[in-house]
Amino acid sequence: MVSAKTNNRELTAIGASPGIAIGPVRITDRSRVAVVETEIAPIEVPAEVARFTNALDAAEAELRGIKRELETAHGPEHLYVIDAHLMILRDSMLFRETIETIETVRINAEAALKRTLLKFKELFAEIGDEYLRERSGDVETVVERVLRCMVGKSQESVNAVEGMAIIVAHDLSPADVLQIDKSRVIGFVTDLGGKTSHSAILARALEIPAVVGLERVTAEISDGDVLIIDGATGVVVINPDQQTFQDYLRRKQRYEYLERELLKLKDLPAETTDGYRMLLKGNVEFIEEITSLKGHGGEGIGLYRTEMLFFNRQELPDEEEQFAAYADVVRSMAPHPVTIRTLDVGGDKFVPGLNLADELNPALGLRAIRLSLRQPETFKPQLRAILRTSAVGKVRIFFPMVSGVAEIRAVKALLEEAKQELRTEGISFDEGIEIGIMIEIPSAVIVADLLAREVDFFSVGTNDLIQYSLAIDRTNEHLTHLYEPLHPAVLRSLKMVVDAAHAAGIDACMCGEMAGEPGYLPILLGLGFDELSMNAVSLLRVKRILRRCSREEAKVLAARALTFSTAQEVESFLKGEIAARYAESFD
Ligand code: PEP
Ligand code: MG
Repeated sequence: MVSAKTNNRELTAIGASPGIAIGPVRITDRSRVAVVETEIAPIEVPAEVARFTNALDAAEAELRGIKRELETAHGPEHLYVIDAHLMILRDSMLFRETIETIETVRINAEAALKRTLLKFKELFAEIGDEYLRERSGDVETVVERVLRCMVGKSQESVNAVEGMAIIVAHDLSPADVLQIDKSRVIGFVTDLGGKTSHSAILARALEIPAVVGLERVTAEISDGDVLIIDGATGVVVINPDQQTFQDYLRRKQRYEYLERELLKLKDLPAETTDGYRMLLKGNVEFIEEITSLKGHGGEGIGLYRTEMLFFNRQELPDEEEQFAAYADVVRSMAPHPVTIRTLDVGGDKFVPGLNLADELNPALGLRAIRLSLRQPETFKPQLRAILRTSAVGKVRIFFPMVSGVAEIRAVKALLEEAKQELRTEGISFDEGIEIGIMIEIPSAVIVADLLAREVDFFSVGTNDLIQYSLAIDRTNEHLTHLYEPLHPAVLRSLKMVVDAAHAAGIDACMCGEMAGEPGYLPILLGLGFDELSMNAVSLLRVKRILRRCSREEAKVLAARALTFSTAQEVESFLKGEIAARYAESFD
């Protein structure tokens, strides 16, 4: 099995989708169309513009064809990505800028389109948020498709492999990933891409092991080489030696054994040994994540981040478009409930259509609910769309970054206005729709008792709550050692929030990353959380430990954890307890 050309070279990049794959390489040509800029005469301008618009039409026809094929193969769930690409294709900036460049600079259409792409990339490069920065990859993929249509270059299918193989490509588009036939393609690695690129998200949703962002991997690997890829750690080994090969084979078997064991828990209740039921739900940004969420036994969506619909475009989505997107999510998740969060943008989450000014302190700036309240013309259509969705299935609505009572009252007044409009227009919605707030600002923790009287549930966003409580920028790589979920200040805050919620008879949920860490489960259970929402892949790991915990013991453990003075003390206590009580749960 091991190639004669053994050299056991190890590369490390971004683990985009967990799982280990071992097999021969198939290089898939996804090289860029080479563009040469040439001047054109004024008389040639109309023909060049026509070449560009014809290519747009051809690219659109291709995408619609792929969409139809995928609809038959996978059903409607993964089509959002193709829709996103269709939207980019029709983006007015892409369209107008390119035509304007052809007309005014008088260059060929390919070069004009490349110039527009460069402008897009410059805009995106300034964005702090990693997820948003990576959206420029989507624009690039769409532009490549248009360029191929212009020069008449066709592409071989991702499934053109003999037997089973690992695909190595410069880049794979989301459409490529969607088209992968898993009985042939057992994993992929690419030069480009990031953890939150659409292709990576889809690889996770479809459970295809993948490592991305290797930069020059296509130059270092040839057809027929043997590759090991570990999609959890981001390690790629080229032509492994016997020892490495055996080692990874064992890891692969162990990983697959664990996955199979975890999957046995999928339909078992999320219940402690003393009979306490906790709700375990998923965080979702794209509709295509729902398949994986259901596959891991998620009992609903505890956080649906709506901002994805607003990125990458000049015009904001109107009420109808939002209603259609939210309703798709609710139908896909039925009969389980969906908790929809209103727009959480501003600061470094850049939305062109909102015309936001630069800010000195974006994390403390005009973002999330503050922005929505400032722009009712954007907020109201979203509220109406969410309300209308509540007639399609079970929906709850909640608001990000609420800092105090006045703010939530202002939100409720607008929500009431939206409800009244719908009643007048005879449009149905759930009159009993529950409303909640994210608890992610220290002031909201301190007045949690007052806020609890205003809403039906709390959901703690620990990603921001830790950032604001400890004054640690969550995106600053130099501060990661100070970002401590077990900091006594964080644990005390969590206790205050749960106690305030329960004193008022409302649910305490958590949807920050802390909820998906199995090692923290005993504390969260002991503090009294009713619901945890997390990434789909964490669900069964959390459920496994939950099913081994007793709630009464967890309460004692949480009370003890609250007595320590530092995060390190809490952590070593927790590790000791977990090793002693739930030894098997941590591998
Ligand atoms: C959080 O802050 O914990 C959260 C879930 O919201 P986001 O990560 O979208 O800011
Ligand atoms: Mg947040």
